[in-house]
Amino acid sequence: MSKPTIDLLPTSALINEDRSPLIIAGPCSAESEEQVMETARLIKEVPGVTVYRAGIWKPRTRPNSFEGIGVPGLKWLKRVKQETGLKVACEVANTAQVFEALKAGIDILWIGARTTVNPFTVQEIADALRGVDIPVLVKNPVNPDLQLWLGAIERLNQAGLKQLGGIHRGFSTFDNAPYRNMPKWNSAIEFKRLVPELPLICDPSHIAGNRELLQPIAQRAMDLAFEGLMIETHVDPSVALSDASQQVTPADLKKLLASLRFSKVDPETEDDHYQLEEMRRNIDQLDKELMEVFARRARLSRKIGEYKKEHNMAILQVKRWDQILEDILEKANKEGLDEKFVRSIFQTVHHYSINIQTEIVNGKADA
Ligand code: PEP
Ligand code: MN
Repeated sequence: MSKPTIDLLPTSALINEDRSPLIIAGPCSAESEEQVMETARLIKEVPGVTVYRAGIWKPRTRPNSFEGIGVPGLKWLKRVKQETGLKVACEVANTAQVFEALKAGIDILWIGARTTVNPFTVQEIADALRGVDIPVLVKNPVNPDLQLWLGAIERLNQAGLKQLGGIHRGFSTFDNAPYRNMPKWNSAIEFKRLVPELPLICDPSHIAGNRELLQPIAQRAMDLAFEGLMIETHVDPSVALSDASQQVTPADLKKLLASLRFSKVDPETEDDHYQLEEMRRNIDQLDKELMEVFARRARLSRKIGEYKKEHNMAILQVKRWDQILEDILEKANKEGLDEKFVRSIFQTVHHYSINIQTEIVNGKADA
C-alpha cells in the first residue's frame, strides 16, 4: 500500500506537550445533566485524563434503543468544560450535527466507525468543516479496510483540517470472540507504518465490549506505542442506557490507568541506545539471510516446476506437503517456536511455491 502524505500541524490538541498518552474518558452516551456532570466531576480527579467524551447522537445497531439525547446534551458538555476545565469531545455523523457541535464550542470531534465506512458522508462532514480549525479523530471503519480509514483522514485533511488523529476501536469479523470487535493488532501496526505522523489512540472499550477485558487491551496499545486511550466511563455503568457492560466507574478507570505500564518509544541513555542498535543490526542481518534463503527456495521451486511440466506431474503433491508440514512442526516444537506462527509462515511459503510452479506449467497463476 502506498504511503499517503497527510499535512498535520506540528503541535495539536491531540498530542500532549510532554508526549504522555492522551487520555479521553466519559460515558458512551450523555443521558441526563446529572449523569454527565457527576461523571465529569469524578473523572476530573483521575490523573492523566484531559478530554471528556460523551455521545450526543448515538448510532445504534437496532432501532428503538436509546438514540442519544441530541442537541440539549451539548449544553451539558459546555458546562463540563466550564466547570472542570476538561476539553470536551463528541461524535458527529452528518453536517447538521457538525454545525450544532461547532455552535456549542465542542473542542474535539470524532467520526464513528459506522460513518468512516461511507465516503459520501465523510466528504459531507469534511466540507462542513472546511476552514474550521478543530481537532478531529477518525475511528477505523467497522470492517478491516485500512484504505477506507486512510481515505476518511485524507478527505478531512484535504478540507484543511490539520489536527487529525485515528482511533483504533477494533473490527467486525466473522467470529469476534472473546471481543466485541477484533483488535487485529497487525492492521493497527500497518496503519501506524503508513501514517506514522498521525497520532493513534486506542479505544479498548469498543474492542472489548466487556470491562473485564479492558486492561490487557489498553496495556497492549501502550506497548505498541499508541498515542492515547479512549475509555468509556460512567458514574453508574449498571444503569447506562448504552454499552452498559463495557463502561467502568471513574474509580475503576483510575485503577486501570494506574495499572498500566507506559513505555517510552526511544531508549533513555547512550548505552541503552548502543545495546539496542547492536541487537537491531543482528536482526537486520537475520532478515537478510531469511531473504536469501527464500530466494534460493524460489529458484528451486522453479526447477521443480520445470521437472513436473516435463514429466506431466500434478503441481500439488498433497502427501509431500503433509510430510513437509509435519517435519517442520516437529522441528518448530524442538526449537520452542509457536506452532501457529510456524504453520502460517510455511503455508505462505508453500502457497508461493505452488504459484511459482503453476506459472511455469501454465504460463500464469491466479492469486
Ligand atoms: C462510541 O464511541 O460510542 C461509538 C459509537 O463507537 P464506534 O463508532 O467505535 O462504534
Ligand atoms: Mn459506546
